[in-house]
Amino acid sequence: MKTGWLQGLVVATHGRHCWIETDSGERRLCHPRGKRQTAVVGDRVWWQPSRDEGTIEQVEPRRNLLYRQDAVRTKSFAANLDQVLVLLAAEPVFSESQLNRALIAARAEGLPAIVALNKSDLAEPFQQAWSRLQPYRAMGQRVWPLSLTREAGLSDLRAELEGKTTLVLGPSGVGKSTLVNRLVPDAAAATSEISRALNTGRHTTTSTTWYWIDRSRHTALIDSPGFQEFGLHHIPAPKLALLMPDFESLAGQCRFHNCSHLHEPDCAVRAAVGHGITPQRYRLYAELYEELAAAPRY
Ligand code: GDP
Ligand code: ZN
Repeated sequence: MKTGWLQGLVVATHGRHCWIETDSGERRLCHPRGKRQTAVVGDRVWWQPSRDEGTIEQVEPRRNLLYRQDAVRTKSFAANLDQVLVLLAAEPVFSESQLNRALIAARAEGLPAIVALNKSDLAEPFQQAWSRLQPYRAMGQRVWPLSLTREAGLSDLRAELEGKTTLVLGPSGVGKSTLVNRLVPDAAAATSEISRALNTGRHTTTSTTWYWIDRSRHTALIDSPGFQEFGLHHIPAPKLALLMPDFESLAGQCRFHNCSHLHEPDCAVRAAVGHGITPQRYRLYAELYEELAAAPRY
């Protein structure tokens, strides 16, 4: 730290611009110092005021960092989390591949994940979605039933978030905006303030955003738009099985310690497909293994 540097928390980003909050709650637009510096939501930074804006001088070391990737590149988007909340719903039907990727990304960073299944008021689709989550519950993944319209399960969820920074993710239509609005006082005002400051257009959450649920208890949500593909390409393919709990427990029993669980003889994982590991889960593993093995390391 140098004299004149101030502490801040990154609460939103747009391109290379950051909207930061000081310890006294003041917010300000900051620009990074130099081309190589990237700050993401959740980062603690040191910054210096320059007229009514500011320059980020230094990003503090991170406890963890999550990435997302599109066809062209991988980008970090959130840091210093305590846990990840994956919001799914009875409707629309969720993609197991996306759920699996989100859980793997969280586990790779040592982050606990909570899955909440919303719209429990829609009895039949809810039952179906709940059964699709059975293999996840069987491997110890916590899944919370929720109905935001009936406010069922919301107080339990609230208690889970207390004092923590939680990244909330979910495909569109599951009720993520409804959840943020229920939990965050003045969510709409905060969103439009950020949109104005960062020029991201009116009332649209186009970027990852930090929301205080309760500043005095340090309870916060980081809302990230969509359920885009998680950046997993930093994970070496041979580590993959260790990040899928149902595979991890068996991986040590294979004949070869470096078994890929794809074609080796006496593979405990492949032997468990159909009893213990569902064929769907195995397919997700095999596809992802090939993807990671082919991915350029960065
Ligand atoms: P987002 O796209 O994830 O931000 O979803 P929204 O919050 O906009 O919600 C999508 C739709 O689901 C809206 O029509 C909500 O009213 C509806 N919705 C949200 N929660 C529930 C719920 O618990 N039960 C039912 N039946 N509908 C819900
Ligand atoms: Zn094996």
